[in-house]
Amino acid sequence: MRVVLMGPPGAGKGTQAEQLVNRFQMKHLSSGDIFRQTRASGSDLAAKLAEYMDAGKLIPDEIVVEMMAKAIASADGPSGLLLDGFPRTVAQAEALDKQLAEANTPLDAVVLLTCDDETIIARITGRRSCPSCGKVYHVTFMPPASEGVCDACGSELIQRDDDTESVVSQRLDAYRAQTEPVLAYYKENTELKMIEADGRDDPKAVCQEIAEALA
Ligand code: AMP
Repeated sequence: MRVVLMGPPGAGKGTQAEQLVNRFQMKHLSSGDIFRQTRASGSDLAAKLAEYMDAGKLIPDEIVVEMMAKAIASADGPSGLLLDGFPRTVAQAEALDKQLAEANTPLDAVVLLTCDDETIIARITGRRSCPSCGKVYHVTFMPPASEGVCDACGSELIQRDDDTESVVSQRLDAYRAQTEPVLAYYKENTELKMIEADGRDDPKAVCQEIAEALA
C-alpha cells in the first residue's frame, strides 16, 4: 500500500506516521527528516537547504524531486510506503505520479490531517525534539520526565530553528499557497481513496479512524 500523508505543519503527521507504519508495515519517508539529515551532513547542498528551511519556505522542486525520487526508489518494497511531507507542490505530485506509474506501483490513498491555526502555533512553538534519536516532545502537552532531556536516550532536547512563531506563519502561508492545490490535484484522481481526519482529536482515535478507512 502506498499512502501520502498531508496536512499543515503541526497537524500531527509525524505522530500518525509513526503509528500507521507500525500497523501496516509501511516504510515511512519524511521529506523534512531527509532534508534535516542532509543539512546536518554538511554536504554541498546543506547551506542551500538551510536557507529555505530556516525561512519557512519550500525547497525548490528540482532539488526535492531528485532527492525524494532516490529515497523512494531505494525504499519502496512489497510492504509499501508512507510519504509524509511530500509532495508539497503540484509539480512534485506530478513527478511522483510519473515515477510510481513507471514502477507500476501507483498511490492507493491520500490522508489529510486538518488543524486550525491557533492549535498549530501552540503545538509548534512548544515542540522540542531529540537531536540524537528524533523523539518529539511538547513542553506542555507531552513533556519529558526530566525537563529538557530525552526520556529515550538522555540527550539534551532542542527546538528546531523553524519552530518559532515567525517562521511558522511563513510555513502556513507556504502550505496554503503551494500545498493546498495538491489536494485539488489528488481529488481529480478518482482511483485514489481520499481520507480526512481531524488532527486535533486524540492521536490514538485518529490513527484508528485512518486505519479503518485504509483497510
Ligand atoms: P517538515 O518537517 O515537513 O515541516 O519540513 C521542514 C522544512 O523542510 C519545510 O518547511 C521546507 O523548508 C522543507 N521541506 C520539507 N518537505 C518539503 C517538500 N516536499 N518540498 C519543499 N520543501 C520541503
